[in-house]
This record gives sequence, C-alpha cells and structure tokens, in this order.
Amino acid sequence: MVMRSALLLLLTWCSLVHAQPAPKLIDAHVHYNGDSAFLKRLLVKLDEVDGLAFLMVQPKDFAGVKQSIKQHSNRLVGFGEIQLDDPKVLEQIDQFHAAGFRGLGELSGPKKNYDDPAYAPIYARAEKYGMFVLFHTGIVNRTQPDIPEDISVDRMRATTLDNIARRYPKITLIGAHLGNPDYSWAAEIARWNPNIYWDLSGSTLIKKQEDYTFFKSIFWWSGISSPHSPKGGPSAFEKTVFGSDVFGGELEEFDREVERYHKMLDACGVPPEAQANIFAGTVWRILNKK
Ligand SMILES: [Zn+2]
Repeated sequence: MVMRSALLLLLTWCSLVHAQPAPKLIDAHVHYNGDSAFLKRLLVKLDEVDGLAFLMVQPKDFAGVKQSIKQHSNRLVGFGEIQLDDPKVLEQIDQFHAAGFRGLGELSGPKKNYDDPAYAPIYARAEKYGMFVLFHTGIVNRTQPDIPEDISVDRMRATTLDNIARRYPKITLIGAHLGNPDYSWAAEIARWNPNIYWDLSGSTLIKKQEDYTFFKSIFWWSGISSPHSPKGGPSAFEKTVFGSDVFGGELEEFDREVERYHKMLDACGVPPEAQANIFAGTVWRILNKK
C-alpha cells in the first residue's frame, strides 16, 4: 500500500514537472518564410511576450525546420502548409504528423470549393490525427497580375467551412480573416459549430478601425439564452482567436496586430477573462485536450 501511494505521488510529480505552463499569448497564424534568421527573430519575440506560435511550414522547408520546432516546443507548434490539390498531399500530412506537427494550413487557392467531396480523404486524415486546420477565407491577394492563375475567392467562402466542421467533428477549424467581407456568415457558422474559430488578421481591423463597435453586431449573442442559440461562453467574441498572419518575414506585423485586436476588443467591451481566452486560453485548452 505504501509502495502504491509512493508510486502515485511520483507519477503526479512527474506529470506536474512535465506539464508545460500556459503561454500568455498564442499566435495561431505565422508563416515561415524558409529563412532561419527569421526563425531566430521570431523566437526572441516569442520569449519577450511569453508566446507560442503556430508556424506554417511549406513542404519544401520541412526538412530544414522540423528539428528547430521540436527543440523549441514551448514556443513553436508546427503546421504543414499543404496544397489540397497536390497529388502527394496525404503522404505529406503523414510526414508532418510523424514530426509532431499539430495542424495543417494555411490552406489557400483550392481548385475546387473547400467542402468539395474530392478533398474528403485529406480532412479524414486530419481528423484521424486530431489536427487543427487553418483555412484562408474571403478575399485573397493577387501578387502577379500579369500571370494567369486558377484562383477564385468563391471557392474559399466562409460558408464552405460549415459542412467540413459538421462532417469532421474532431478537426478544429480556424478560418483566417473572418471571411472578409462575409463577417456575418463567418460568425454565424461559428455560433453553431463548436469546432470553428476565426482569426481577424488581414485588412479587416484596418478597414474597420474607425468603427470597431461594428463587431458587436457580428458577435451579438453574448449571454443570450434562447432555444434558437446554443449555450456558449459568456462572450460571443470567444469564437475568435489571435492570429497575426506574419508572412514574408515581416515580424513587425505581429505587434501591430496585437494592438489592433486589443483596441477592437476594448472598444466592444469584451471582458478581460474573455480576452485572455482569445489571446491564448482557448487554443491552449484545445492543444492540451486528451
Ligand atoms: Zn490568408
């Protein structure tokens, strides 16, 4: 008996020692640009803010960065930046998963709608691994207007996430950019799908900077009790998570995006506990869910 209690004590102690403390900030949307100097700067920034970043890694950069991600598991979580139409995509997902990556994305530029049945094997694999999937939604840039490309914003509408969320309840979906400009649709499908969250990165918080209280009409159901609305957290804004969309090595966007989020959430009177969830708590709990 004494032996057993001693063993139990030891086991408890071990799990306490190994449990990672919650970071203060989680950035669910950072693109790795393949440059190790950027990675160093990112790690300094994350140390400074006690942060953790979901780092989107393209298959071409995978071999060069997977070790660093493992080494800095208190600061970085790997995401495999796959292309839905790549014939090698399932193999790539297996490789990312085997290296400890926890998510896929940012998905963008599909040849079919996100919820097309052709992509079912990909989402099934993501679900099997209990992954996050970050989707680009809404308007998308056109960086080389002279070169023809088969891209359409219509295939990346916010509403295409609804069917995926319902078919694959074990995937956590993060929609980037709140479906810009389909904000209402984005929020409404998150209201009914417990596994959908949104980030507000991109141009939205710049476009709306003179009118941040607008978002109260989008995330309207705080504290509402009704047969027509599922029981949610105390603040409807908790369907958002922090994401900076740093890409191309432009780390300065991180601070700017933190500031915009704070300004918007303060303008909408979002309580501090809800803000703590938006900036870290929600994603942390999902990451550590057994
Ligand atoms: Zn995007």
